[in-house]
Amino acid sequence: MPRVFLRVLDGANSIGGNKIALTIDDEGIFLDFGVNMKKKREYILGYRALTVANKLYYYLYSEILPRASGIYRRDLIELDERIRRILDRGLSLEVSMAIISHGHVDHYGAVGFLSEDIAIAVSNSMKTIMESMIESSSISDVEGEIFTIKNRKENLRRGERKARELEVFEEGKRIRGAPFAVIPYPVDHSLPASFGFLVEDASLAYTGDIRKHGLLSGFTERFIEKVSGVDYLLIEGTRIDSSIRISEEEVSREIRNYVKEKEDKLSCVIVSPTDVDRVRELIELSRELGRKPVISPRVTYLIDKLEESGSKITVPKLGDVGIYFERRSLTEGGYDLKSIHYRKWLKNVYLDRVDGKRKGDLVKPEEIGRKQDKYLLILNGLDYVLELAQIGPTPGSRVIVSTSEPHDEEQEIEWSKFEKWVHLLRLDLRNVHSSGHADRESLIEIIEEIKPRKIIPIHTENPYEFQRLRRIGEIRSEVILPKPEEAIEL
Ligand SMILES: [Zn+2]
Repeated sequence: MPRVFLRVLDGANSIGGNKIALTIDDEGIFLDFGVNMKKKREYILGYRALTVANKLYYYLYSEILPRASGIYRRDLIELDERIRRILDRGLSLEVSMAIISHGHVDHYGAVGFLSEDIAIAVSNSMKTIMESMIESSSISDVEGEIFTIKNRKENLRRGERKARELEVFEEGKRIRGAPFAVIPYPVDHSLPASFGFLVEDASLAYTGDIRKHGLLSGFTERFIEKVSGVDYLLIEGTRIDSSIRISEEEVSREIRNYVKEKEDKLSCVIVSPTDVDRVRELIELSRELGRKPVISPRVTYLIDKLEESGSKITVPKLGDVGIYFERRSLTEGGYDLKSIHYRKWLKNVYLDRVDGKRKGDLVKPEEIGRKQDKYLLILNGLDYVLELAQIGPTPGSRVIVSTSEPHDEEQEIEWSKFEKWVHLLRLDLRNVHSSGHADRESLIEIIEEIKPRKIIPIHTENPYEFQRLRRIGEIRSEVILPKPEEAIEL
């Protein structure tokens, strides 16, 4: 009989940071290898921990990354003798592939630290999402080296990179190169190209991040069917303590009303940049309401890249869509595209429109300012409120926040800064959001439909709620609460 071990190295008692090691005899895989954002925010302060020379050391010391030998990049280990000593005292793992469920940083963001011998397995669209989001973000050096590695030891020429071994998987087909049978099935979440997995040889399924109330709920239903009857179910429990279920349809309806109420004023919706489906819905809504949709350059870049990659994701058509032109340069009234203040990706988004190579036209804030009732802004990130100051909205203009609520102190601080600007700009603020995660009742349904012998909750701050539900008879599967230092023999 093969011996199967499961280790939840991180993500058992937190939302995000999933790092699940599954080994059968002496071969293993990771299911996700994300950044635990909460832990990172708790320990990382100042620039010291951000220098390449010290990053891995600080991350291991504070256990932002698990102490395990055999999984990290040799070039980073060789930078610092102390790292080897920490790792030698940790556990030893044999892993040849990191299989990623979707393009959220809390599921893939620590792959850059993994040894060059560990391949990364993603879907084609997922890869495009990850690459374009990294490029258009402030993620730098090691953490951005997901698909290519800049070797710090061999002194490669400046900018020279080595490709990490890559396996592009397709839904319903066994992942090539994996040491045992792992089959990906798409699930519904708050961004496209999200997957759950069936590990046949371990009779185990992993939900990734999942919901039943989104536009692609059919995916979730099919995943449930495909993995039904497994012995073990690794299930996310972000919202195991909440029965609130607001659908994407409800969100669209609410946003429509909120925009309509402000017929003669500007309206702006803030959504996550990777939620391509919601962006597409909002563009359509904007057209129906007779307003010109204006999207952020970051979303535009993602859409351009998805189109280029031949992705199957339905991206919005940008024919009549405006692309928000950020004022950044010191010359030409703030819009000099030759300026270094436009990063390469941003410059490309704009130049492709100036040259007429791609659809969509550039819209400057002052143009929006002149005809405020003719636009619907679809922007990403609370910091975009600063762009509203560029536009100069008439008092009482509407801003609708459609992203998840702040769930830690740092995000609360961000939120309060955002609110300061909202008040200063005299905006009429509304909040409406449909979560990317299943609510308690949906989670119970998922478990009851799959009927696993045992469930292993992950991606939750409240794993005990699963135990309570078992105790009161709502869940029939046995509940295993994983501990990071423990290997569970399946
Ligand atoms: Zn997610």
